[in-house]
Amino acid sequence: MDLQQFRINAHRVADWMADYLVSLPDRPVSPSLAPGAIRRQFPAAPPSTGESFEQVLADLERIVMPGMSHWQHPGWFGYFPADTSPASVLAEMMTATMGANCMSWATCPAGTETEQAMMEWLRQLIGLPATFTGVIQDTASSATLVAILCARERATGFSWSRLGASAPDAGRLTVYASREAHSSIAKGVRLAGIGEERLRLIDTDATFAMRPDALASAMAADVAAGLKPACVVATVGTTSSTALDPVPAIAELTARYGAWLHVDAAYAGSAAVLPEQHHLLQGVDRADSFVFNPHKWLFTNFDCSAYFVRDVDTLVRTCGIHPEYLKSAHDDAVVNYRDWGIPLGRRFRALKLWFVLRDFGVEGLQAKIREHIALAREFRGWVEADPAFEPMAPTPLGLVCFRHRPTELRADDPAVDELNRRLLASINSTGRALLTHTTLNGRYVLRLSVGSLALTREYLRETWELIVECAAGV
Ligand code: PLP
Repeated sequence: MDLQQFRINAHRVADWMADYLVSLPDRPVSPSLAPGAIRRQFPAAPPSTGESFEQVLADLERIVMPGMSHWQHPGWFGYFPADTSPASVLAEMMTATMGANCMSWATCPAGTETEQAMMEWLRQLIGLPATFTGVIQDTASSATLVAILCARERATGFSWSRLGASAPDAGRLTVYASREAHSSIAKGVRLAGIGEERLRLIDTDATFAMRPDALASAMAADVAAGLKPACVVATVGTTSSTALDPVPAIAELTARYGAWLHVDAAYAGSAAVLPEQHHLLQGVDRADSFVFNPHKWLFTNFDCSAYFVRDVDTLVRTCGIHPEYLKSAHDDAVVNYRDWGIPLGRRFRALKLWFVLRDFGVEGLQAKIREHIALAREFRGWVEADPAFEPMAPTPLGLVCFRHRPTELRADDPAVDELNRRLLASINSTGRALLTHTTLNGRYVLRLSVGSLALTREYLRETWELIVECAAGV
């Protein structure tokens, strides 16, 4: 494809993108097909000569689109949102066009300095104290792994990275998170070499939030056994139910034992753009690190995870590496983000954040998130008002956990789980909505996550009516 063809095709792709977004409500939210159905349509080997862009676009429609799950659909209520927005998509196209590797200041000064500016904007936007400095990571999972690595280094006097398993404190470190914490914490503990058997999963209370008394007992028992608490991960907005761990009480304990406090607010952090949600960050001023995902609920394309730390030195001592071929004249005066995370190569992710923050403005972001929270509360009200349904967890933000329970069935009847399994399959098979599930207190629960930029109140109401209709059918 030469540049003249590129220009023509780029216009066609722009039209395709706008048409796609307009068409979303008319498409089934997710495909219904057997595993392998898409793969088997690809030729076994790549083409030996180049093919026309028309052919590629035609095959996109024929092969790929029938297998797409439409995450930006107004009926997407699964998992947590992974919102994009028009401004973000346009920035991604420009990032891709420039194709810069922003691994260090010297390799792309604008990439580094835009990221510095955007991390400062984001910090202010969600009301994090000025003691925090931010960097973009690909995902919250990577950010949490980095936090655990930093905790490990600090707890071992930075000797683990030099001595490995023979470091004096190796084998003594422990990590804590609630039973409801995201699986990325267990993965991080495993990858950091601490070992999953040293991860303590702390009991939760009736709201599914970590119990600080249980954390205190676990830490005290470990210290008495000669172990060394290295890190506590508090979750603000758990994956199953958006439970809010009590960060101030947890911070008391991490201070007492000198452990690292990492706050995982992957989903809920975006809600802190609202003044009325600032309580979400209570106690976070005492954390060592904090992560939230603009790629979940801040209308910024995947991937973009905002990781904030109080002590940049520890981060750079843990992740920094200085081979000769990367040295440059200004290294003493600039930030080299390659030393602030795991990968060397880095995309210019800050550009899309800049576009999004300018396109929405603070007030635009606040209005959208406020609307989502209000819609989730309204949906919860419909659940509460119907005797054949019940909410299964608090709804502090945009997620409603609920289930169908006909009045004749007791709460602990296993038939209720089976009924809701069938209900979920029935709702999702309509193509009008996609919900996901979890278990809370061992019970099968439906999750409806409000967050699509395309969602309207009318669509949500129709979804509720659809759920009631499907429930009558199962
Ligand atoms: N932490 C929480 C609380 C989450 O809900 C999720 C994903 O939903 C993650 C971490 C992982 O996020 P990522 O996909 O950015 O690694």
